[in-house]
Amino acid sequence: MFTTSIPNPRAVETRLAPRFQKLLSKYPPTTDEPHTEERAEALVADAVQWKASDIHIEPGTMETRIRLRVDGLLHDVAAVPITSGHHLVAYFKTLSGIDATALSHPEHGHGRIEAGGTLMEMRTTVAPTPDGEMVGIRLLDTRRPVLRLADLGMSDADQSRLKTWLSEMQGMLLVCGPVGSGKTSTLYSLLHELQTLPRSIITVEDPVESSLDGITQIQVNAKRGLTFPDAIRAMLRLDPDFLLVGEIRDPESAHVAITAAGTGLTLLSTIHARDAVGAVTALRNNGAKDWEIGACLEMCVSQRLVRRLCLHCRKTDAPTESEHQWFSSAGISAPEQLWQPKGCDACAGTGFDGRIGIFELWRLDGEARHLIRNGADGVELARHALEQGTQPLLKDAIAKVVAALVPLSEIRHLSGIGNQPG
Ligand SMILES: [Zn+2]
Repeated sequence: MFTTSIPNPRAVETRLAPRFQKLLSKYPPTTDEPHTEERAEALVADAVQWKASDIHIEPGTMETRIRLRVDGLLHDVAAVPITSGHHLVAYFKTLSGIDATALSHPEHGHGRIEAGGTLMEMRTTVAPTPDGEMVGIRLLDTRRPVLRLADLGMSDADQSRLKTWLSEMQGMLLVCGPVGSGKTSTLYSLLHELQTLPRSIITVEDPVESSLDGITQIQVNAKRGLTFPDAIRAMLRLDPDFLLVGEIRDPESAHVAITAAGTGLTLLSTIHARDAVGAVTALRNNGAKDWEIGACLEMCVSQRLVRRLCLHCRKTDAPTESEHQWFSSAGISAPEQLWQPKGCDACAGTGFDGRIGIFELWRLDGEARHLIRNGADGVELARHALEQGTQPLLKDAIAKVVAALVPLSEIRHLSGIGNQPG
């Protein structure tokens, strides 16, 4: 019988998994695998070192690939024999409370693992594939200090506007962006600002991602019948000043959030939308009426996360012809030098060091509410926001390129979004 094997063309970036690689050379893979636990801990410690958000263990026909998601991108960090991969998968399944027998459909579980002195929460998904079970582990460090607005990359002017608005508003504040754009971190840093106020703050989350002193945090548990809407309704009886709802994800949570925002508190939440005015469309798509949105929506913060250049190795180049064209289509002239990633030991050769947020803040005025009540679409609302002086996402992105924090390649795709810079 002939078998065809397709070699995996992706390069293994061993520098991202130094502890794991060291164990591989110390104890060459064997079938009995007495070192699986040690390997799993080394892998998590490597993930913690490089601030990886996820670990993937993906079996193939010839070998099992181990990958870390760093700054939003998956990197292959090791390749092990299929049998060693099975042992690792079995170990993480057991640790996450998932049945150790072979699965016929995807399963989710969670657990904890201590690695390199850090206790990490794991949200684990196991899925059967033709080559065996693959595992995806989302890592959460619940004791990690909450980032401040300044740490997220928000400009001083935006920070002070946001803080002033928050201190005087009632109604709904939505943080908008695609999946993985850092919306939850922004909400947490807002809570951090509010923590000092003598007000009552409650959160309803799925899951609770960071624990905060002095704030009541409720975790929804749909399996046990505590859904987002149920939890929100229950928490309203405690009469909070600020209520954080993890996400508006369906018509029911939109309805409950809008009702809550109409009761005189400040409701903070996230919604999947392309830009700040897109929050209005997203609420409409979730069944909210124009008059309801006009009555309660106060502020939208739109954001993206982009990779930040490693300060140890970034290098400059004169802009290329295509880069000149990009700037001129955005209505501004290109800077004389643009910064590019290179790669060094400090960044494991990636050229990047974490991520930074790009922001757009839109505070709705009377005219915006009037437009929404009259069914104005996204284009009309975007035009009005721009006239109001809202700084579009792209403008903040370009400022970060000019400040040598991010390369143009990280923000080029934003030129199609929302308003053009004025
Ligand atoms: Zn570097």
